[in-house]
Amino acid sequence: MLRVRLLVFNAALGVLDYRVPEGMQVEPGSIVIAPLGPRQILGIAWEPERLEAQDVPEAKLRPILEVLPVPPLKAELRRLIEWTADYYCAPLSAVARMALGSMAALRGGGTTTEYRLTGVEPKRLTPQRAAAMDALHGEQASIRELAELASVSEGVLRGMVGAGLLEAITVDLDKPYPPANPQHNAPTLSDDQRKAADTFVDAVKANEFAPFLLDGVTGSGKTETYFEAVAAAIEDGKQVLVLLPEIALTENFLRRFEERFGVAPIQWHSSLKASERRRAWRAIVKGAANGGAQVVVGARSALFLPYARLGLIIVDEAHEVSFKQDEGVRYNARDVAVIRARYEKAPIILASATPALESMQLAEAGIYTKIELPARFGGAQLPDIQILDLRKDVPDKGRWIAKPLVAQMQARLERGEQSLLFLNRRGYAPLTLCRNCGHRFQCSHCTAWLVEHRFSQRLACHHCGHEEPVPDACPECSAKDCLVACGPGVERIADEVAEIFPEARVALITSDTMNSPEAIAEFVAKAENKAIDVIVGTQLVTKGYHFPDLTLVGVIDADLGLEGGDLRAAERTYQQVAQVAGRAGRGEKPGEVLIQTRHPEAPVIAALAAGDRDAFYDAETEARRDAGAPPFGRWAAIIVSSEDMAEARDAARAIGGTAPDLPDMLVLGPAPAPLSLLRGRHRFRLLINARRSAQLQKIVRAWLGPLNFPKGVRVHVDVDPYSF
Ligand code: ADP
Ligand code: ZN
Repeated sequence: MLRVRLLVFNAALGVLDYRVPEGMQVEPGSIVIAPLGPRQILGIAWEPERLEAQDVPEAKLRPILEVLPVPPLKAELRRLIEWTADYYCAPLSAVARMALGSMAALRGGGTTTEYRLTGVEPKRLTPQRAAAMDALHGEQASIRELAELASVSEGVLRGMVGAGLLEAITVDLDKPYPPANPQHNAPTLSDDQRKAADTFVDAVKANEFAPFLLDGVTGSGKTETYFEAVAAAIEDGKQVLVLLPEIALTENFLRRFEERFGVAPIQWHSSLKASERRRAWRAIVKGAANGGAQVVVGARSALFLPYARLGLIIVDEAHEVSFKQDEGVRYNARDVAVIRARYEKAPIILASATPALESMQLAEAGIYTKIELPARFGGAQLPDIQILDLRKDVPDKGRWIAKPLVAQMQARLERGEQSLLFLNRRGYAPLTLCRNCGHRFQCSHCTAWLVEHRFSQRLACHHCGHEEPVPDACPECSAKDCLVACGPGVERIADEVAEIFPEARVALITSDTMNSPEAIAEFVAKAENKAIDVIVGTQLVTKGYHFPDLTLVGVIDADLGLEGGDLRAAERTYQQVAQVAGRAGRGEKPGEVLIQTRHPEAPVIAALAAGDRDAFYDAETEARRDAGAPPFGRWAAIIVSSEDMAEARDAARAIGGTAPDLPDMLVLGPAPAPLSLLRGRHRFRLLINARRSAQLQKIVRAWLGPLNFPKGVRVHVDVDPYSF
């Protein structure tokens, strides 16, 4: 009899053994359906010697019901899943789930049905149907997705199908994707670019693991250069994965890719429609040939997909913190991507103008090959950076833009050039209080102030998403019209610009305004056609964009990121300011950058002003070495949370009380976590600082494994945490 070991998608169940019925083919990696009690569950067959399961006698084993009609997960991917679970102290099943896309995709079945408006305009409509007609213009999706889009019940939409207002469309899930043409529009590369590209192309052809750090200043043509490697992989019939830090950046990328290769790449991210997701997944599994997936561009979740033959990985803007996932499996997609490339025997290119210190260190140690593009393409100069000391150049009362910056903006308006103001804070003001009694508006679920959003007339918590209308009167003292906004957010800066330059065309770019690909595309088109004079934005505007007439960048508050004592505060500030500065002067006209700060003497600000990147990395390296911080030492956080404060605290203390006493590992805490209340859960934190030599994960598992906690308590480990 054949016994098979299954990894099932429920961490509590873990690993279960089954029997393979006569005539059924199951191999490691096969995705199968198996019975559990009266239910059916999904599982992945795994090598039995690699996973421990409960000992069940042969006679009691139940049979596998079905092997799903998709290729088994390859050994390379199974090893990656194991590595990730092991390194990040996460359940194997939670990691494996990321490889599967959706249940529906696994079921196969060539087609699905979607619905769209027929164009019939009835004379009379119920209010709900009228609302749906308005909301669903140009949309095509499943009934469930359309119902969500239009905020009506599925029943309303079914009724509309019956009335001939919506029609069914059959979508072919195995419809081939048109192939990319590697020679479609190949640019003539500069000498530096050519050398870099040749190195990448050779690596693609070699079928070996080869990690590269593509360290090129903003505007040096990193994208054009790695596109040559993409072309080589396409020619070789291999698949390519391009990871981008946020969906907002994909729009720009898609367009450039299409210009270069003649077709769009396949996208993978959370806002795909169900049918798009299914079609993409099936193409990824199929491989590069015959209309399968050649190039996939996606957010970090694209990393674990079952590519048939991955021949190249690119991580663009590789320094970005958003590659770190802070929920569910807490992993860093940049780091896991390198591991995936190793298992797949493929090259990986980490591209950045401001690489993470960890990546620089690995390049210096010779583990990554560093490829440099030191100059902007086409002779464009890097912008001139100046510091505006806010202690001397005090903005007018109630204003946040200092006069020298206003004067520079004025000059741009007169010359018909564009300016960009950067402040990494959404909303109108970070804090709202009552002028009469001093009451501060705080989130009822989090330790956080509510942020006023004038755009939407609401107070919002940026941690849990809680929102409430801006009240007419203070809830504490009932005074009317008493609310004052304290400090600036981007919305307030945009208002200020409109006040100072009433004739200027201002665009506000934040995740609140740029929430769809259409909105982003519209913004880019407007900026390129010079229909925008001043862009005011959060970190969304710091990356990727290339507007030749943008010649001035103003950083409203460079000190913002330095507050709060985060390990990577200085690095992040450096990266953000250098990136946003990199938007200036990318065309023929030179750019200028003004940085507003109250701490011109801070090493990161001084290095930015001097344009001395090495000085920054040197200072930061020393600071990290002294603190035993990455890359010299390692950190891990243990976060304990519960809706009950005492319960969370007691559990955290119990963990602290059993902390191992080891020479190469220091345990700090427990203490209330920085956000001590988050989404209604009280949080305590222990911090581990370990030498590189310590077997951190093994120790943590041995330590936490035997402990038991009340049901309401959640304990999670964050290895290499970003924000703490
Ligand atoms: P980076 O990603 O390093 O900031 P990009 O790849 O965005 O740089 O290139 C900056 C600009 O220069 C883009 O508009 C790009 O199309 C252009 N460019 C770069 N290299 C070339 C080239 N070899 N030929 C033509 N245009 C190029
Ligand atoms: Zn909240």
